[in-house]
This record gives sequence, structure tokens and C-alpha cells, in this order.
Amino acid sequence: MRIRVVVRKRPLSKKESQVQDVDVIQPIPIHGHVIVHQPKTRVDLTREVETSNFAFDNSFDADSFNRDIYESTTSNLIPTMFNGGRGSVFAYGQTGSGKTFTMMGAEMTGNRGGQGRGVLDGNEGLYYLAARDVFQTRQQEEFKHFIVTVSLFEIYGGKLYDLLNARKVVKCLEDAKQKVCFPGLSEHVVNSEDDVMSLIQSGGNNRSTGTTSANADSSRSHAILLMSLKVPGRRRGPGAKMQEHGRLTFIDLAGSERGADTSKCDRQTRLEGAEINTSLLALKEVIRALATGGTMQHIPFRGSKLTQVLKDSFVGVDARSVMIACVAPNFSNCEHTINTLRYADRVK
Ligand code: ADP
Ligand code: MG
Repeated sequence: MRIRVVVRKRPLSKKESQVQDVDVIQPIPIHGHVIVHQPKTRVDLTREVETSNFAFDNSFDADSFNRDIYESTTSNLIPTMFNGGRGSVFAYGQTGSGKTFTMMGAEMTGNRGGQGRGVLDGNEGLYYLAARDVFQTRQQEEFKHFIVTVSLFEIYGGKLYDLLNARKVVKCLEDAKQKVCFPGLSEHVVNSEDDVMSLIQSGGNNRSTGTTSANADSSRSHAILLMSLKVPGRRRGPGAKMQEHGRLTFIDLAGSERGADTSKCDRQTRLEGAEINTSLLALKEVIRALATGGTMQHIPFRGSKLTQVLKDSFVGVDARSVMIACVAPNFSNCEHTINTLRYADRVK
């Protein structure tokens, strides 16, 4: 399995332009290239610019819409899901680079210029756009029997918290057939894209709050949304298990710069940093092992909670993954951006 990798640059923020921070990232969308113009000093931007060039499956400039990203990464996974396959969509990047904006949409990151709900502006997130296509596809006669369910949880400090059930801690286990399961994780039947978004909105209020920072902080955890197609099991009645047919998994990863929080701050932050570092490295190793066609025994899923949880999403006859590497445009974040581009380059 080879993973599709795209890069998305967000616009320079007001604050960044106010302090005369400059835009140093140049995506070249037709080639999928990203050029980093790294001035040696901030003062003289015209001289001594080191440029690095990276190539990906696609790259998106700051003026692109979530809808463009959706078309390039996720829309193809909907037929995969209806055919009984699995699709995974990762958002990778430093805190503030646009991961949640891409996944949840402009509205959910509070950046919608005062427009109300239900206004479609091309910046609905991938969750919404995928759900919309899922319900549209389900209208076809052959798919009408499918039930759509959603679960939302985060991985924080090696534990799973159900964001749609009061942050209840849930386990991740493998059954006798080595199938990953999450006993106790709440599953919610949904019937429209708006159902999905209201659930996610309620889940957002349950995300982890950094204990070391004054800000509410979701950058230290991985948020995972499972959208599944189910069919009623053979047994009827209450408690009867539904069988999973296909699944889409969205992973809004912890801020990649958090993995470097291993030397400074207090013990808690260091431990969190180490955990994030381990999981992002393990993810890279798993993706690389899958790409080189390693046998299941040799793929290091056990390397972290994140990769254990995702094992099922990665394997199977029809499993497809995409990564959206999000980057900030400005000089001050250049180092983090290059780290992100290097990571993305390694997994492609
Ligand atoms: P992350 O989840 O990677 O930490 P966010 O998605 O929260 O980052 O984005 C940080 C800020 O930048 C938010 O205020 C968000 O609205 C804004 N932002 C991110 N991407 C874009 C974009 N493509 N267009 C406009 N604003 C964006
Ligand atoms: Mg975020």
C-alpha cells in the first residue's frame, strides 16, 4: 500500500503580517512541489536565500478551499467504503498549521466571519463533505440497507477517551481473529451530515485541556473519527451486533512540534512530548513498512497506541490512506515546516 501525500499551506494570519513575518512557502500545485525559500536573515530577504524543493502527489496554496483538498484526497475513499474497504485520512502538522480547519471546517475553528450554520462556502471540513457524499451514495437502491455510525475519541497519554460519552476511558483490544475492537466505545447512528456535525460539535467540548497551559489545548492528543457502514447482524433484537461493512477513519494528529517537547518544561509536558514523538515515529514506520510490502508480522503496529488503534484501518484487501501535511506560510515557523515536509516526504 502506498499512501497519497498532499501538502496544504494556510494563509498568513493577521497577527503574522502585523509583525512583518514573511511568507516563505511556495506550493507549485501543477507539479505537487513545495519550495521553501529560507532567508538566512530576516532583515535581508533578497540575498542569501536557501531554497529546498519537495515533491508530493499534490500541493495546495493558501487560497485553496477545503473542498479542493477533499476532492484530491478523500472523495475517492467513499466508493472504497461502500465496496467494503477502508479509507484513512491523516492531518499532520505543527499546532496552528490548519489541521482542524481542514478536518472540521472553517465554522468549527471559529473562523467563519460571522456566517451562520448551513451556509456552504467551500470551507466545510472533510468530515462534513465526506458525510454528505456518504448519505448521497446511500440513496442508491443497492446501498439503502446500510446504517451509518460515527464514533469519536482521542488518544492522549496512551489512553483512549470517548469524546461522545463524557470522556469515558475505553480499551483497544484484539479479538481472536486479530481484529481491533474498542469495547465500550459509543457508536452513534447518524442520518445526515448535520447529525454528524452536531455530534462532533458536542465532542469538541470534551477534548483534553492542557494542564500546563492556560489555553484549552487539543494539540497534545490525536483525535480520531470513525465513520462506518453497518449491516444488521443475523440475530435480531436489542443487543444484536451490527456487522461492519466499510469504514472511513479521520485522524487529526497531535501537533508535530509537541514531539520535540522532550527537554523543556515540566515533567508532564515532557512525558506528553515523548508519547507524541513515539506515536508519530511509529506511524511513519508503519506506513513505510506497508509501502514496501512487508508481511503483517513485520509491520510494527505495536510501536504505539496510535498504530495499534489504526491497524485495522490500514490492512485488508481494499485499504487506502492519504496524508494531508499542513504547513504555516511564515518564516518564523520555517523550521517546523521543513520538519513537516521531511516527515511527509518519508511516508510517501
Ligand atoms: P491546527 O489544528 O493545525 O492546530 P487550526 O486548524 O486550528 O490549526 O488553524 C489555526 C488557525 O488558522 C485557526 O484560526 C484557523 O481558522 C486558521 N486557518 C487554518 N487554515 C486556514 C485556511 N486554509 N484558511 C483560513 N484560515 C485558516
Ligand atoms: Mg487542531
